[in-house]
Amino acid sequence: MNLAATDGTQIPCNGCLATGIGSSGIQTDTRAENGVELHKLQGKSHRRYNPLTRDWILVSPKRTERPWQGQTEQRVDAPSSYDPNCYLCPGNPRSGGVRNPVYSTTFVFENDFAALQPDLPNLTVHDGNKNLLIATVESGTCRVVCFSPRHDLTLAQMTAGEISGVIDVWAEQYRGLGALPYVNHVQIFENRGAMMGCSNPHPHGQIWATQTIPNEPRREQESLDDYRREHHSCLLCDYLALESASQERIVCQNESFLVVVPFWAIWPFETLLLSKRHVADIEALAAGERVGLADILKRLTTRYDNLFQTSFPYSMGFHQRPTDSREHVEWHFHAHFFPPLLRSAIIKKFMVGYELLASPQRDMTPELAAEKLREMTELHYLLRPCAATPAHPR
Ligand SMILES: [Zn+2]
Ligand SMILES: [Zn+2]
Ligand SMILES: [Zn+2]
Repeated sequence: MNLAATDGTQIPCNGCLATGIGSSGIQTDTRAENGVELHKLQGKSHRRYNPLTRDWILVSPKRTERPWQGQTEQRVDAPSSYDPNCYLCPGNPRSGGVRNPVYSTTFVFENDFAALQPDLPNLTVHDGNKNLLIATVESGTCRVVCFSPRHDLTLAQMTAGEISGVIDVWAEQYRGLGALPYVNHVQIFENRGAMMGCSNPHPHGQIWATQTIPNEPRREQESLDDYRREHHSCLLCDYLALESASQERIVCQNESFLVVVPFWAIWPFETLLLSKRHVADIEALAAGERVGLADILKRLTTRYDNLFQTSFPYSMGFHQRPTDSREHVEWHFHAHFFPPLLRSAIIKKFMVGYELLASPQRDMTPELAAEKLREMTELHYLLRPCAATPAHPR
């Protein structure tokens, strides 16, 4: 895998040759070889290729030669299980006067301030043959999913059974919204924490269903499609085999899912959650796989919270088959977690300067980030007997 020599036009197909994972899917043990190759780049500024987005990221490990601080800021602000002023708590009024039902598990509603309107007439604005000013109508629907009636919980603090209930709702919503004639893509996501611009701590996520396939999944779809045509295999199945063989970037796994800090991660503790089976969407997960997804989501978010002993902020979301009635054999169900924290509960990574104008950059290598996350226990810090604040009785 000669990263330093690639120039953006000749991409050595994800290191297939170097790792012995070819189009046949046959895998050979090249762990040592991978380690040696990567070792050559450790301590040297280098760039890494993201085969999903086809972007490059600059890695500058020399800048982290100062010792790992890893300090934790015990910012335990324990909210109560019900907040009379929260527009998501059961029985409370939302803006606009609608009152939430007194729900006891999950609750889904149409966003009161939706970014999209359903079923609009097709309209296009175009400047002529130069294609400089183009706009088209975008129909869509935005929904909010309350994960729990309890104001004070997060995915990490919910039981795997409760998370399974959320996964069932995600699957139902994906199916229902995807079946609407004007909906061709369903984006399920969660924005957690004030640092990510989410001011309400009540555990909830969003679902935006749109007429067109948005930028990120569209780019991934093109990459998955091209890779399949070229190698007669799935990009993410091959990547999963490569990560399983090397082990270097694995955070945690179970029978159905694997979590890695991807080779091309931009955010310090970014992770990629991959289904071990080649399955196109959340609805197609078998019952056991849904249980596996609940398990891995709880374990990953617990590791995140334990890292800086804080309720770890992130944006996460699933990428899956568009709902445009095509089969999309190229799609491999996965989730991305993009957390902004860098060194403590209050020090975040900023995407400024070079990153806004040129290319994303990181100091800590993805391998080191994976090691830090692997070192964490899967017992939530608030549940430890010596925790500064009494644990919620979960
Ligand atoms: Zn609430
Ligand atoms: Zn696959
Ligand atoms: Zn993706």
